[in-house]
Amino acid sequence: MSTATAQQEIHPKESMAFQAEVKQLLQLMIHSLYSNKEIVLRELISNASDAADKLRFEALANGALYENDSELKIRIAFDKAARTLTISDNGIGMSRAEVIANIGTIAKSGTKEFFNALTGDQAKDANLIGQFGVGFYSAFIIADKVTLTTRRAGVTEAVRWESAGEGDFTIEAADKTSRGTEIVLHLREGEDEFLSDWKLKTIIRKYSDHITLPIVMKKSEWKDGAEVATDEDETVNKASALWARSKNDITEEEYQEFYKHVSHDFENPLAYTHSRVEGKQEYISLLYVPAKAPFDLYDRDRRHGIKLYVKRVFIMEDAEKLMPQYLRFIRGVIDTSDLPLNVSREILQSSRDVDAIKAGSVKKVLGLLEDMAENKPEDYAKFYQEFGRVLKEGPGEDFANKEKIAGLLRFASTKADTDVQDVSFKDYISRMQAEQDVIYYITADSFAAAQHSPHLEIFRKKGIEVLLMSDRVDEWLLGSLTEFEGKKLQSIAKGDLDLGKLESETEKEIQKKIEEESKTLVEKIKQTLGSQVKDVRVTHRLTDSPACLVSDAQDLSGNLARILKAAGQNAPESKPILEINPGHKLVKRLENESAEAVFADLTHVLFDQALLAEGGTLEDPASFVKRMNSLIS
Ligand code: ADP
Ligand code: MG
Repeated sequence: MSTATAQQEIHPKESMAFQAEVKQLLQLMIHSLYSNKEIVLRELISNASDAADKLRFEALANGALYENDSELKIRIAFDKAARTLTISDNGIGMSRAEVIANIGTIAKSGTKEFFNALTGDQAKDANLIGQFGVGFYSAFIIADKVTLTTRRAGVTEAVRWESAGEGDFTIEAADKTSRGTEIVLHLREGEDEFLSDWKLKTIIRKYSDHITLPIVMKKSEWKDGAEVATDEDETVNKASALWARSKNDITEEEYQEFYKHVSHDFENPLAYTHSRVEGKQEYISLLYVPAKAPFDLYDRDRRHGIKLYVKRVFIMEDAEKLMPQYLRFIRGVIDTSDLPLNVSREILQSSRDVDAIKAGSVKKVLGLLEDMAENKPEDYAKFYQEFGRVLKEGPGEDFANKEKIAGLLRFASTKADTDVQDVSFKDYISRMQAEQDVIYYITADSFAAAQHSPHLEIFRKKGIEVLLMSDRVDEWLLGSLTEFEGKKLQSIAKGDLDLGKLESETEKEIQKKIEEESKTLVEKIKQTLGSQVKDVRVTHRLTDSPACLVSDAQDLSGNLARILKAAGQNAPESKPILEINPGHKLVKRLENESAEAVFADLTHVLFDQALLAEGGTLEDPASFVKRMNSLIS
């Protein structure tokens, strides 16, 4: 009995159903990416190249995996009569289990988010699919049947996978002695353009020139007016590591195509930085800023991002060791000659060289962003829209670059009064009033709540700009960033508001007088509210509203306390301070109210309103409604 038959008995031909999402994705892809069929070749070549990288890496520990065939390459062939296009490689290959796992299910993080993001608008969705990464399944854009035969390095059993891209696929044992993967595309009606030598070579050069291993095809000749293949192999692509080439020899298109290869993105990048560092550390880095955030930007388990090479040999893809979390959206390649080829994860973990390379690369990226902010403000706005919230994690994570990162941050402010985050600390400082020495901000859980906060009244009246912060990460940012270029960051909803020199002596005297006059009222309110408040006092901040809540300078802001509570964390208890505006009609009415019960109702309503206005929730909403109603009637 031959080995193949023995294997067949263990694994007879089986039909399996695709996961529901795969089916949906396939349909979507075939219908919305129809206008960009050339990418099929790019995706399959990209996979073959990844497979070669994986083999090289595994072979570092186990040279036998090469099986005396260490010249890794990708072959493209076509058969006019059979109307097939074949892409084969001698990379790592796949075991039966790997085939089922890798191309029977979407095993990709972010799939659910992806489906949620779909709009139903074809043009928009095509774009989304691109961002999501089309990969292997794109084969069905031009093929109505795909046959994949593969044998994993070091494994004897070969497997054949076949599907028409509808509901299911079959899998069976196959005869394949050579290592690696062969994919045969049975072309759909009308896709004959892929049966042209010239056309294929053009596509390969356009999309895959940067692939480091040779992509070979048979040389063709014209005979009697027809194109015929010869026996001679021809390497179609440049087949050299793009990042190792000199900048002057790389075109913009090549940089862009390479980005799409490493990032699995569909769109061009927003910016990139390519540099060769020599001296103490020796490495080349080619780092890109994507134009769009990936679906798994907030998935803490994601590991990809930067590909690490040692002397052109792919070692691994790992974002964490080479980029800090707040730059996790950066994509690209770092190639160093400072590490041994057989570098292990443990070595990487504690390597000073790696630390130095990471620090150098971070500097490069921050420099690139600074440059974009200064010279391409429109691009920077796009970047910030996508990644600003991630960048805000920076000052808390990267102490060494805190000031640099802070310089890259942008916020909404009362100046434009829109939710577009485009004001830098520098802009703010340049517009500060002559006597102003701190940067004022307010945090809230929505932009509207920040924008309409009663705390802003005095600032609006005096024309003092305030930064409006409503991203969740803002509270975290403010925990680690307390000043910028010597200017303190000051919450306008915290502590005793002291406008310092921004208030005239006369204003201060008037304020003092009002405080004196309101002493009895303040005391009475305090008694009525009891343990609900830390204190009650006369406000400096309000001009139009009757009251507002303030946190003590050392306490958590109300917003942060709510965020922690929502995240299931125990926030240390901090009670608010109620500030009242004695100039307001309601407060005047309260002062003149002689009926105890009505005074109490009014006071509670005042407090509850102030809590609602800053986005808080009432502990006892029913009582609030009851009191309101009795006051109205
Ligand atoms: P991605 O490349 O983003 O992982 P693909 O859909 O392109 O997604 O491929 C899915 C998986 O199938 C790959 O991650 C890989 O494990 C496997 N695969 C695809 N093509 C090959 C190949 N030529 N050789 C080995 N494995 C492959
Ligand atoms: Mg792929």
